Amino acid sequence: MSSTTSPTELDVLVIGAGFAGLYETYRLKRAGFSFLTVEAGDDVGGTWYWNRYPGARCDVVSVEYSFSFDEALQQEWEWSERYASQPEILRYAQHVADRFGLREHIRFNTRITSVEWDEDRARWVTTAEDGTVFDSQFVVTAVGCLSAPKPPEIDGLDDFAGDVYFTSMWPHEGVDFTGKRVAVIGTGSSGVQSIPVIAKQADSLTVFQRTAAYSLPALNRPTDPEEMARIKAEYQELRARAKAARTGLLVPRGTKTALEATPEERQAAWDQCWDAVGIFACMAASFTDIHTDEEANALVAEYIHEKIRETVKDPQVAEDLIPRGFPFAAKRVCLDSGYYETFNRENVRLVNLRRDPIERITASGIQTKGELHEFDIIVFATGFDAVTGPLVRLGIKGRGGRTLAEAWREEPQTYLGLQVAGFPNLFTLTGPGSPSVLSNVMVSIEQHVEWVSDTLEDLRARGIRTIEADPEAQAEWFAENNRLAEGTLYVKANSWFMGANVPGKPRFFLPYMGGVPTYREICEDVRARDYAGFALAS
Ligand code: NAP
Repeated sequence: MSSTTSPTELDVLVIGAGFAGLYETYRLKRAGFSFLTVEAGDDVGGTWYWNRYPGARCDVVSVEYSFSFDEALQQEWEWSERYASQPEILRYAQHVADRFGLREHIRFNTRITSVEWDEDRARWVTTAEDGTVFDSQFVVTAVGCLSAPKPPEIDGLDDFAGDVYFTSMWPHEGVDFTGKRVAVIGTGSSGVQSIPVIAKQADSLTVFQRTAAYSLPALNRPTDPEEMARIKAEYQELRARAKAARTGLLVPRGTKTALEATPEERQAAWDQCWDAVGIFACMAASFTDIHTDEEANALVAEYIHEKIRETVKDPQVAEDLIPRGFPFAAKRVCLDSGYYETFNRENVRLVNLRRDPIERITASGIQTKGELHEFDIIVFATGFDAVTGPLVRLGIKGRGGRTLAEAWREEPQTYLGLQVAGFPNLFTLTGPGSPSVLSNVMVSIEQHVEWVSDTLEDLRARGIRTIEADPEAQAEWFAENNRLAEGTLYVKANSWFMGANVPGKPRFFLPYMGGVPTYREICEDVRARDYAGFALAS
């Protein structure tokens, strides 16, 4: 563990040392603030620290899923694969921490349990699980969007006599599945990545699927040195193009609608995505109407359904694996290495929970309506209370003692995803209402950290004590994002984007829908108009 004796009085407290927290740490250090970054884990890396399940790897190509803020860093780092695995991404985060001397500013093993606004002193009082108290003018949360695991919501878990693991809290020493009867519950990205790897090791694997996900082949491969040299030669230009792209991703984008294209053009575009491009956003970007027109969407969905039928030998299993009931790409598309092929293995079985739902977990396994399935190990890949969950669980109390949970009970309103009215001097990196998970999150992290850090430096120079989102500006921003989302097919799926995977959570589209470049322009314009929509006080 690396830690420092924390000053009790700080200008800024940063919560989280994943990629957002690391870059924020770098910027605050450079600007000479009195600050500290606190981290619940015993190392940096955030998502890549916790999610160590077998098969975990990035599903944005690594040359894009990496920092661009330092030219020497991007020139010197070598990615060994097109989509780096979790251990390699974690090594990259550790390298960034060491290279820029960030560890001395990070207090590890520090889980925050309350963050309270002291109205009289206009300062935040933040308390950690171990009782340590931090007193700061500003708090910047860098807690990620997918870091609050969702409870399993299945009765009887405590009765199970075998071992239980969550993909989102994987043991550091790993899990040996050799000779074991294993269950995986959940078929989102975490399930889709781990299932092929677990299947190869386990004696038997049973996959419990409630909703089939769309998954595309990752086409992962070792890095080609010549390609890498070309990328590095033009890295700055590639980064500029990514920042100007709607999703922050360098994905080929079609210019016409799927409905005006001929069947041959559609087939060629989708074959290209499936066989050559291997980027999860490729199909959705192939024509301009995939996210907005149900008929166009159904065409690409049918293309993928056919691919599943071609790959999976048992026709009933293939039908069960075909996603139905929501538009293609309205839920986050997965990227896999041999997912559908895994269901052709002798030792793998699929249980369709729509036909045979889970009743409870018992001492020996999982009791569905029709059968008792016996296991040695159950793996939960059941997802997260996304985007708002990681913030709410910090125990934040703003003006008048109002909690963030109360503020968001009906509607998860923010201004620009950066602040919440009633919570002055609290900045939420990749917060709800910003592009975050709807973009290459590294691009969005850099934009947010730069905006917040520039703002903190500016406020310091001007002697401004507080900055707070205006409730009206916030309500307008929220309404605008809802308006944008309503024009798309995203709102037609029970996705975590919509908060629909968590019982009782209000249903609103959580990330900002207007795209990375538009969002950046809006943020810059807000600052140019002296923080329009924020109230400043000296
Ligand atoms: P997820 O996409 O929310 O998937 C959770 C799965 O668990 C779904 O199939 C869900 O079914 C199922 N489930 C949840 N509760 C259940 C219950 N009580 N009984 C049975 N099934 C249940 O979660 P995730 O796979 O962890 O992925 C979340 C996000 O993290 C991804 O969309 C992606 O953005 C990110 N991620 C990225 C990577 C990467 O970059 N490589 C890897 C993993 C995750 P329903 O759909 O029916 O609710």
